[in-house]
Amino acid sequence: MGNRLVILTGAGISAESGLRTFRGNDGMWEHENIEDVCTPRALRRDPKRVMDFYNFLRKGLPSHQPNAAHIALAELEDRLGDDFLLITQNVDDLHERAGSKRVLHMHGDLMKLRCTHNENHVFLFDKEETLDTKCPFCGAGTRPDIVFFEEIPLYMDQIQEALRECDDFVYIGTSSVVYPAAGFKNFAKQFGAKVTCLNLEIPAHDRDTDVFIQGKATEIVPKWCKEFK
Ligand code: NAD
Repeated sequence: MGNRLVILTGAGISAESGLRTFRGNDGMWEHENIEDVCTPRALRRDPKRVMDFYNFLRKGLPSHQPNAAHIALAELEDRLGDDFLLITQNVDDLHERAGSKRVLHMHGDLMKLRCTHNENHVFLFDKEETLDTKCPFCGAGTRPDIVFFEEIPLYMDQIQEALRECDDFVYIGTSSVVYPAAGFKNFAKQFGAKVTCLNLEIPAHDRDTDVFIQGKATEIVPKWCKEFK
């Protein structure tokens, strides 16, 4: 059986946990140049700088806690089981710490590293990555398990199948401008899903979004989850 409900979350769901969003006021990229930390070219040119940027973000994560929106989604998953799938564009671990289990980090995971020789060698990592960090499976070098600009997001086959089969697709706290994630709503709609958006701001008109609920994630997500049947 497919996932009846598919949720896509973005940086907005973690905003009230104190993590900066992508493009909003004081957004992450106002402080760092994308070219220096988030492209394959940057990794080739200056791997230490790239590692240090993600080391900094990883180190800061434990001081941020899951909020009521993360927790409500984990509780909804408890209720729906395999009828539920959570896709996140976020690289933080707040969904997992709230108790979510069926989570796909399509843009990677700050709490993991990846082998530079075999992309299937991915492992949990909560320390400081250096140029000497080795893959525990084969001893090769490592890189952050982050999908850089120009790279292909993860789990796309699984995601496409889930979007095709779901009855409801809900996107939360995402400006919905980064593709392919921005196209998920249109894809799911094409296959018959009801599409709902929960966000602080009204996004640009989207003909495929059936319901729009405006507000802060910690207020609107728990309420929506409670009412979902
Ligand atoms: P975005 O910054 O482009 O958009 C965030 C959206 O959340 C905006 O539409 C904003 O109106 C909304 N928002 C802000 N505060 C909110 C709140 N309290 N409640 C509800 N909505 C709120 O984020 P995006 O669409 O996820 O951008 C994509 C990229 O940003 C992703 O690739 C992601 O990997 C990266 N990113 C991740 C994190 C993280 O892991 N926490 C943080 C920053 C950026």
